[in-house]
Amino acid sequence: MAHATRLLIDGALVEGAGPPLAVENPATEETIATVGSASAEQVEAATRAARDGQRAWAAIAAAERAELLHELARGLRDGTDEIAAIMTAEGGKPLVENRDEIGWTAAAFDFYAELARLQTGRVIPPVEVHQLAMVVKEPLGTVVAIVPWNYPLLLLAWKLAPALAAGNAVICKPSELTPLSTLALAPLFDALPAGTVQLLAGAGDVGAALVDDPRVDGIAFTGSTATGTAIAHRAVERMARLNLEMGGKDALIVCGDVDGEALQIAAEGAAWAAYLNAGQVCTSTERIYVDRRRYEPFVEAFLAHARTLRVGDPTDPATDLGPMVSAAQRAKAVAQIDAAVAGGATLLHGGDRAGQERGHYLAPVILTDLPEAATILTEETFGPVAPIVPVDGLDAAIALANASPYGLGANVYTTDLESALRAGRELKAGTVWINDPLTDNDAGPFGGFKRSGLGRELGPEGLEAFQETKHIHLDPRIERKEWWYPYGR
Ligand code: NAD
Repeated sequence: MAHATRLLIDGALVEGAGPPLAVENPATEETIATVGSASAEQVEAATRAARDGQRAWAAIAAAERAELLHELARGLRDGTDEIAAIMTAEGGKPLVENRDEIGWTAAAFDFYAELARLQTGRVIPPVEVHQLAMVVKEPLGTVVAIVPWNYPLLLLAWKLAPALAAGNAVICKPSELTPLSTLALAPLFDALPAGTVQLLAGAGDVGAALVDDPRVDGIAFTGSTATGTAIAHRAVERMARLNLEMGGKDALIVCGDVDGEALQIAAEGAAWAAYLNAGQVCTSTERIYVDRRRYEPFVEAFLAHARTLRVGDPTDPATDLGPMVSAAQRAKAVAQIDAAVAGGATLLHGGDRAGQERGHYLAPVILTDLPEAATILTEETFGPVAPIVPVDGLDAAIALANASPYGLGANVYTTDLESALRAGRELKAGTVWINDPLTDNDAGPFGGFKRSGLGRELGPEGLEAFQETKHIHLDPRIERKEWWYPYGR
């Protein structure tokens, strides 16, 4: 397949003049394309063009902008076959999951197309009755969207769709591992004024150059906590607006009331939450706490289910888990697994190459008998690993879940209403899923407590992240106010 490898700058497709990026297929370890990164001059050209593009875009009425965003969503859906194939080739995620991702990506454009023409601000009670006081929402100006490789289009859309809907220009910087699916979107932006959306490629240096450019008003980032923290330090120097979605160490709790068929379902739900996209989801379940009374049957059911999972060619519709994205990500997960085993944990299942000769495959792992301080229970793994730990009741489970510097998501299985409400109240996480792990909803905010992030994506909050708030105070009369000078005379 011939891939689109050119950047979109100021409405034109151009070869990246910076260092080339070799894009690898993680299932075959072959280089499938070479993409030139954006040079320093091209980064500057993009930020310059964004200024004009933004003015032209914001001058289009909200209802018309909404129609153009719906058109984008339609274009995405129409391109599902082609784009999903590219995503699978560069990222290794199973084709079926990439097709879903495109559907969710299109849905985000549809959602924000409508939300943005509804939410313009509000009228508030004025100081004097004859006045008009308004709170209005304005675009930030130029926004940079820096995203990782695990959901390259969805995580871009959670920024691009609301930022555009709010009237911003957006410069997109995909991960150096997965630039192809983003660059393939270029034709979708033909109907927008030149410079409104620009697609760059490059590694961290291109991201850093965009973060430091004084013409960039807002930075929306998804990625690791280390990179996000570094970006925050730089951005705060010039008070660029920030929205950060970072790492996690999500817990899944199985309460003692869950038994029989429900326990079997909880085991299957937990396996999906831990292994989806080979565990490379920001909200992957990375710690499973099971009430001691249900521990043994839960582990048994989990193991039996894990044994049925198919690891292999991500283009095969019957594949459950594809390869991990890169040798480095696999090595990081394997190092954590090895350290856990060296520390006394039992490797109950997986950890091998699942019979594959090439590709960054890691057969889904189950770990038990973990020491409480095991690194695999505290640091983000981002791989197909399920550490299962027995706990003495819900209090202990919530305490363990909350004893983390991260707070992105948390999951609970329970049939007890009081336990569900208490978990919802006490878990320190941006999303708490009860009996339905990892289900996203465009209308609800997504983001993290603590070191998992700053700000929210999705929902009305995700639109406000790309808006400035202005208070306009209008007095139709020109008259002296009694509280002016002179005082007391
Ligand atoms: P990463 O932090 O290495 O890279 C993310 C992006 O930042 C890439 O585009 C990269 O090129 C860019 N970048 C790197 N250094 C930069 C710098 N100094 N300045 C500006 N940009 C820079 O993360 P990754 O390995 O691509 O993704 C995995 C991480 O993403 C995991 O930690 C995961 O938890 C996190 N993640 C979070 C969410 C969420 O919504 N909270 C979603 C998905 C992934």
